[in-house]
Amino acid sequence: MRMILAIFAMLAAGNLMAAPPDGISRELARQRATQISDLRYHLRFTLTPHTRSISGHEDLQFHSRFSGPLLLDFRDGTAANLIVNGVPVPAKMDHGHLQLPVHAMHRGENKVSMDFTAPVATAGKAVTRFEDQDDNTEYLYTLFVPMDADMAFPCFDQPDLKGRFHLELTAPENWTAISNAAIKSQSPAGPGQRLTVFSETRPISTYLFAFAAGPFRKVRETPGLPGLYVRQSKFMRAEQEAPEVQQITAQGIDYLSSFFAQPFPFPKYDMVMIPGLAYGGMEHAGATFLREESVLFRIAPTRSDHLNRDILLLHELTHQWFGDLTTMRWFDDLWLKEGFAQYMAFHALASLKPGENIWKRFYQSIKPAAYSIDSTKGTTPIYQNIANLQDAKSAYGAVVYSKAPGVIKQLAFVLGEEDFRASLRLYLKEHAYANAEWSDLVHSFERVSGKTLQEWAAMWIRHRGMPQIDVVWSCDSQNRIDHFSLTQHDVLGEGGVWPVGMQVLFEYTDRAPSHIHTELNTERAELQEVIAKPCPQYVFLNDQDYAYGRFLLDERSRQAVIERLGGVSDVFERTLLWGSLWDAIREADLAPRDFVELALRLLPDETDEALAQNLIGHVTIGLHRYVNQSVRAEIVPRAETLASDLMLHSANQDLRIIWFRGLRAIVESALGRTQLKDLLTGKLTVPGMDPRPLDRWTMVTALIALNDSEADALYAAEQKRDNTGDGQKYAYMAQAAHPESASKGRYFDDYLHNSSRPEDWIEQSLGSFNYWNQSGLALPYLKPALEALPQIKRERKIFFVLGWLNAFIGGQQSAAAQAQVHEFLSTAALDKDLQLKILEVSDELDRTVKIRQRYP
Ligand SMILES: [Zn+2]
Repeated sequence: MRMILAIFAMLAAGNLMAAPPDGISRELARQRATQISDLRYHLRFTLTPHTRSISGHEDLQFHSRFSGPLLLDFRDGTAANLIVNGVPVPAKMDHGHLQLPVHAMHRGENKVSMDFTAPVATAGKAVTRFEDQDDNTEYLYTLFVPMDADMAFPCFDQPDLKGRFHLELTAPENWTAISNAAIKSQSPAGPGQRLTVFSETRPISTYLFAFAAGPFRKVRETPGLPGLYVRQSKFMRAEQEAPEVQQITAQGIDYLSSFFAQPFPFPKYDMVMIPGLAYGGMEHAGATFLREESVLFRIAPTRSDHLNRDILLLHELTHQWFGDLTTMRWFDDLWLKEGFAQYMAFHALASLKPGENIWKRFYQSIKPAAYSIDSTKGTTPIYQNIANLQDAKSAYGAVVYSKAPGVIKQLAFVLGEEDFRASLRLYLKEHAYANAEWSDLVHSFERVSGKTLQEWAAMWIRHRGMPQIDVVWSCDSQNRIDHFSLTQHDVLGEGGVWPVGMQVLFEYTDRAPSHIHTELNTERAELQEVIAKPCPQYVFLNDQDYAYGRFLLDERSRQAVIERLGGVSDVFERTLLWGSLWDAIREADLAPRDFVELALRLLPDETDEALAQNLIGHVTIGLHRYVNQSVRAEIVPRAETLASDLMLHSANQDLRIIWFRGLRAIVESALGRTQLKDLLTGKLTVPGMDPRPLDRWTMVTALIALNDSEADALYAAEQKRDNTGDGQKYAYMAQAAHPESASKGRYFDDYLHNSSRPEDWIEQSLGSFNYWNQSGLALPYLKPALEALPQIKRERKIFFVLGWLNAFIGGQQSAAAQAQVHEFLSTAALDKDLQLKILEVSDELDRTVKIRQRYP
């Protein structure tokens, strides 16, 4: 066995040595996982302010099962003084790898050491510098997921080679350093410098190793509560928010430890707020990084904003078990960590805040994104084949963040809560501090529940797309159901039958509603059990949102729902029914004008803030994308008046805030613009709401985009009022909406060629560049934006490509733009993952064109 293994490995390695692959191929990863174990990284970094690189020294120790050459991953930096087992060897970089030559390698223990440097920049590197304009300080932080650790130091950058990290940082003495483990010691290290030594970590993957350093301050340090760090200029703001953040996190730790029957897996837990972090959060083991803007709200927050923050905190916290303790073997199983973190965040919050209707919020924040990707030709299975880690960024998106938790919810419904929980406990116990694959999880579910899930997994994990479930029913002259059948079809028309578990609602005017559980595992089924039941007013197939799929109302039910919707007292049901009507709009099966009119009629009585916010969003999309100009011109003044009225007079502050946002989104007429201007100058105030800087800047942005004659003056006034670091970013965002072609040209050039422009500035300004009324001005940039995709994929963080496409394609509504996108798709030589992303995003443009043609 050993012999065969060794020969295989030498052959594989020989190949690799001949031509090291770009990136990290699955073959390279498998070969190294076979060869290496007991990995330890001893890393020393020297952090010097205002420099373009950091220097470091690395001592690497590992056990090799056989002696053979080996590739270390290292891109972008320089390495020197490479010593392998006491033998100096040339530090030869090749295609992002450092070669450890066969003659120097041992079977058994190996020691490798070297000096290295790695780049630091404000964007586009693994070590990012943030310059705080408010107090002229500087912060450095790492962000390695999915495969950028090898831009910062030489390593085996694959998730299934977990190592113990021993980190030492030399930095200015007034800096605070945070990493995965607790600080072991600190000592002076030359003039003005201090050495911070961290304890060794437990085994963790390279993408979960991290540090942040700068004049951070620890907020509201309380024994027993997780640590929370913020840059010094935001200390006072953070003090206000800290109690809520620390409390929900501490409650989450208790809840999840007990749910998983596993104590918190690492010796400590800190959260570090990073301004402009590319993601909402990143779950480094023991040291989650959070986007500062997601915690310290830049706009006047509603209750929903607070609950969304809870979800973010619980999501990153769940990863400490699901992702950090037990890690996917390879990024094709990304859903294992993301799907569960998302699902468990809601699960935990539903238990911690039982009065908040959390599963309704799950439907609102998870399902639309899932269904909208899954009904496009750009969708993928939950399990995504990743041949090389350099394509791993493409695996991130709605399929793992939204579809996977939706499918997990359905599975928990079918298995029952107890078996579901017992399976997760078994899975985490068996793979603690190690790696696992999706099939390991499915086996746990099967072992615990006694159910066979192979068919389930084949369709929900390995197959792309989703079913649409339809119902046909009728009643006899006695007013009893005499026919009730369910059918399913693949929305992409690629063939497929899914096992779907659901709860069906029968709603009546004269009696309490009834519900039945059913599973549809075939293309068609008669529901005998409901025959002879009283004839309902309407039926809805996905009551409580347990199932995953498209559920449109049948014609009879739709009419009844439209008549009765305002009177549906259960807010979850009301939300689901509205959702189903909106799905009908997107299927071009219901006139957008009818939906907008219905929403405007019922919104004044809608007391649920989250639902009202959804509906305002749909009305805005309906007006800006789906109806024609004359319908919009007729409706907008009414919508503005309604928004303004409810912004000023709603009884509830959250409603006043969302109507303020609604007014800003819908506004177009001179009268509406005057209201925004009055809000900016203080002539008009929203009772109980104190607009925050970003609230103000988005009003300025709208006025610039709408070419208001006072926009320039208001912009200048706002710049004077808010010249903070954030203010400069928002000013950049506002000017991107300037309705003038030379300005668009300058911005576009900046996006692609200004390497010092922080990524979050660009991200934040893309929507303004493509403001809803500027499709004509933005159209010349559609093709160049598509042509830039390979560059963007290479240089930007994970979610940037999608944000970019959504802005540039989503800013268009015409058949001409649609033709350009499809022409590009059919002629450009593109990576498969980029093709899929374009197909995903252009689906909305296709729908828009179709809706406008059908309802001119
Ligand atoms: Zn996550």
